[in-house]
Amino acid sequence: MDASPRPPADPSNLGDLAARSLRQVWHPCTQMKQQAKLPLVALSHGEGPWLVDTDGERYLDAISSWWVNLFGHANPRINAALVDQLGRLEHAMLAGFTHEPVVALAERLSALTGGVLGHAFFASDGASAVEIALKMSFHAWRNQGHSDKREFVCVRHGYHGETLGALAVTDVALFRDAYDPLLRHAHVVASPDARDARDGETPVDVARRAAADLETLLVQREGRIAAVIVEPLVQCAAGMAMHDPEYLRRVRALCDEHGAHLIADEIAVGCGRTGTFFASEQAGIWPDLLTLSKGISGGYLPLSLVLSRDAIYNAFYDDDTARGFLHSHSYTGNPLACRAALATLDLFADDDVLARNVLRAQRLTQALAPLADDPRARHVRHRGMIWAFDAVLPDAPGAAGAFAKRFSTEARTRGVLLRPIGGTVYLMPPYVLDDDTVDWLAARTLEAFDATMTHGTEVHA
Ligand SMILES: *Cc1c(COP(=O)(O)O)cnc(C)c1O
Repeated sequence: MDASPRPPADPSNLGDLAARSLRQVWHPCTQMKQQAKLPLVALSHGEGPWLVDTDGERYLDAISSWWVNLFGHANPRINAALVDQLGRLEHAMLAGFTHEPVVALAERLSALTGGVLGHAFFASDGASAVEIALKMSFHAWRNQGHSDKREFVCVRHGYHGETLGALAVTDVALFRDAYDPLLRHAHVVASPDARDARDGETPVDVARRAAADLETLLVQREGRIAAVIVEPLVQCAAGMAMHDPEYLRRVRALCDEHGAHLIADEIAVGCGRTGTFFASEQAGIWPDLLTLSKGISGGYLPLSLVLSRDAIYNAFYDDDTARGFLHSHSYTGNPLACRAALATLDLFADDDVLARNVLRAQRLTQALAPLADDPRARHVRHRGMIWAFDAVLPDAPGAAGAFAKRFSTEARTRGVLLRPIGGTVYLMPPYVLDDDTVDWLAARTLEAFDATMTHGTEVHA
């Protein structure tokens, strides 16, 4: 992975890149006034799991650049596929036209679901895929004569993106509160988060209790619910809240019983992140609609898609134009993004990635084991290629935010890119770490935690 040559330094990039960025670039998920006081890392290039800044400092990308990068930066095999595609077709509209990459990708994803989710609708980012799934659900019911089914259900602390439709099924106050007056509210039901276990409860008990809450709602709103949207196994943006697969089995059964679609948002948990290619597989269920994005292009290009069952697809298949799904995005089915996705799927198959991740995960879990005995950490948890724990912090407003900032800085000083979600530290590394890098990452994470807890948790303005 270190084989790619380092590009020559561009003098205009050195030194003042961060300053230029602060002047002209409006950064995402950032209060720009605060960012002006914090270091902005100006990147020069990437090499495998490493990001390298314009001073030559290296950072291990332990959160896969916001959960998208699966096989490292500047991956030679994905690069080669893209170079080949660039010489053929960079983009063309998908209405009235088609091309090999989009067809092959739809076929291969369908095959990965055993043909159950046999239709792929393409977009560019996760939030758009969620919008599409919501619209498809409502419109499919309407086409079938059930126009009263127009309410959606989401899970407490769930995250599905930040466009207005996706935000309406997102229950994260920080992203949602400012726009709340604009939203068409969804029903929010209990989360199956295993951390919410009461005395003597197992994760399965918590899952059943949360499913019972959904059942109550479905009974109350009988005939009104179009779809229930869930993040299978891990509510990532909630702070890596993990639950037992029993929850998904129950939700599947309840959706069938009450005539609601099940939308599995696998944007973060898909593509092997939880150990299986799709997280839903671990519950032995398939949803009616499944969203993918983030890792599907290997973290190279914006690409998202919605996989659907025949029953939904057939509800639109008609002589009447208006009964069709008329949604579109300019870059739908972009050939370059699809080629990156095909190269990503090739890597999974050729390198037996899911099996090798089991060994990688065992090693990282082992290396993080000291946390289990650390009274300053709790809920040490892991699923597939996601690890998380919660810092034990004073119950003061701002304590979690101050912890997150301090921890990121301590980690960055040690050459690791980690961004806690409040008091939750998590690791979501790309699938290319060798044993030495796994051990190095765990050691730096423990050091950064120790340093933060020793002298970093006081709340600053
Ligand atoms: C990131 C994410 C989204 C939104 O994807 P964007 O590409 O950021 O719009 C939706 N759902 C889940 C579960 C996500 O993690």
